[in-house]
Amino acid sequence: MQNKPHIAYFCMEYGLNEELPIYSGGLGVLAGDHLKAAHDLQAPLVAIGMLWKQDYTHQYIDENGRPYDTYPNFDYDFLKDTGVSVNVNVRDEDVTCKVKLVDRYDNAPLYLLDTNFPGSEHGWITSRLYGGQTQDRIAQEIVLGIGGLRALRKLGIQVDKYHFNEGHAILAGIELMQERMKNEGLSFQEAKNAVKKEIVFTTHTPVRAGNEAHEHQLLQEMGAYNGLNYNQMNEIGGDPFNMTVAGLRLSHITNGVSKLHKETTKEMWKDVSGTSPIIGITNGVHAKTWQDKKMRNAYEEDQDLWQPHQKSKQELIDYVKENNGANMDINSIIIGFARRAAPYKRSELIFRDAEAIDPLLRDGKVQLVFSGKAHPNDQNGKDIVQNLVKMDRKYKDSVVFLENYDMEIARKLVKGSDVWLNNPRRPLEASGTSGMKAAMNGVLNLSVVDGWLAEGPQHGVSGWLIDEALHEEYNHLSEDERDLKALYKIIYDEVIPTYYDNRAKWKEMMKASIDMSQWKFSAQRMVEEYYERMYNKNLVRPEQNQQPSAKPFETVTESIEVISPPQQQM
Ligand SMILES: *Cc1c(COP(=O)(O)O)cnc(C)c1O
Repeated sequence: MQNKPHIAYFCMEYGLNEELPIYSGGLGVLAGDHLKAAHDLQAPLVAIGMLWKQDYTHQYIDENGRPYDTYPNFDYDFLKDTGVSVNVNVRDEDVTCKVKLVDRYDNAPLYLLDTNFPGSEHGWITSRLYGGQTQDRIAQEIVLGIGGLRALRKLGIQVDKYHFNEGHAILAGIELMQERMKNEGLSFQEAKNAVKKEIVFTTHTPVRAGNEAHEHQLLQEMGAYNGLNYNQMNEIGGDPFNMTVAGLRLSHITNGVSKLHKETTKEMWKDVSGTSPIIGITNGVHAKTWQDKKMRNAYEEDQDLWQPHQKSKQELIDYVKENNGANMDINSIIIGFARRAAPYKRSELIFRDAEAIDPLLRDGKVQLVFSGKAHPNDQNGKDIVQNLVKMDRKYKDSVVFLENYDMEIARKLVKGSDVWLNNPRRPLEASGTSGMKAAMNGVLNLSVVDGWLAEGPQHGVSGWLIDEALHEEYNHLSEDERDLKALYKIIYDEVIPTYYDNRAKWKEMMKASIDMSQWKFSAQRMVEEYYERMYNKNLVRPEQNQQPSAKPFETVTESIEVISPPQQQM
């Protein structure tokens, strides 16, 4: 244990399981998988998050086919109360945050800050994930960052490195500086240089406008300056104060979440001074959470993969019947698609050429299952969902929209579909992880090349890449039209014939998909890479030379791919 640094991992959301709904989507699920993999690896890590009383949204469909939001209260009686509370200053008020504990992952405990307890006047702060106005968000970031850091101190947890997963926790960096300035008498510059050595940063946003920025005046009013002044805060985050820029400047190393995203990130911030070196660590998913056990066993024992697949497919069909009323056919192909409802994800792309898709849906040769939430305030996102529901109602048994997308639905979809479709505009997907979950279950990816897919499936071998079917004669068309043509070409010429007429090839592809993904896109590989390249420590490796794909399911500390440490000297 000596050479394992103690990491404090900060994130606004965690997707661990259905009983603890404190996540909205990919970022949270990734953080949950990071924690679980650290647990499996016996790597000491303490996670800091927020106890969201009402989750993000529980989103259902009304009679007009439009999503509406509900916000049930959760009591979380099963969480441990540490008895510890910390105070932070929000808009000149003293806010008490209780510290609750999820101790299920023993060496990787998750501490959750909670302002929502009887008698509290500040319950609004931890009420809804990504809810409310800008002021609410800043208050939440004060609690997560400053409150989180104070919680670590009060709990007496020794920390070697602070990992800010996305910019939300950046105020913890300001608090770290304050400590140094107060306790050690360091100047602002000295404190900044000192804390940089302890901070690592992960960015997830591939579009500059998508990076959160705040007006200085508002930050100051809310108490986010935390004793610093305008010039100092400006030096860290610019004006307006950009949370990602602050992360880049307060850390000694930053990572993007795929190789492509590393390049996008470098390009995006190349005119910003004083940033840390940017590397790429591709996301991974926690196999024990996302991979079907029957499938894993069949794969390990080199047995037929079709049987476990059909079992999972039947479970999905049963779930659809129960929740949606549709009767799907187990002998017809199911294409799954689940994404946050955002225009760039183009969930309706496959419907755009009615002549091409209509006959396939009418005779049930192709079946589609969709899911995904829109942000409660995003009317365009809700239009997208409404359009999918329209298709669900038009093609009763062939198109299904499952409401209230969450980890449970995700698990059913990434196991029970035959094909996993992903067609965002490029390069707007930082990584994407649902396709990794699908790949590990032998569910074949059909995707544009963006995010992790540039390192993942090979066309016609372990999935299909829409970019490979882009023909020169499409060059004059728009990106949407080109992708649409390529998508249909693959569906007509490859997916359908292989599925219906060449089952042997299909099964070979399923195996190739698991071969390709099981280790390379596992959260364990990811966490090991974080330890080596971000935290600068090697984990103990009992058996170095074992083949990754032979890794047993339950014992998790055995084979480790050798990843070269970073070249740059921090
Ligand atoms: C895996 C997962 C995501 C992230 O999937 P993407 O491919 O990145 O969109 C989002 N939500 C849930 C519930 C998930 O399980």
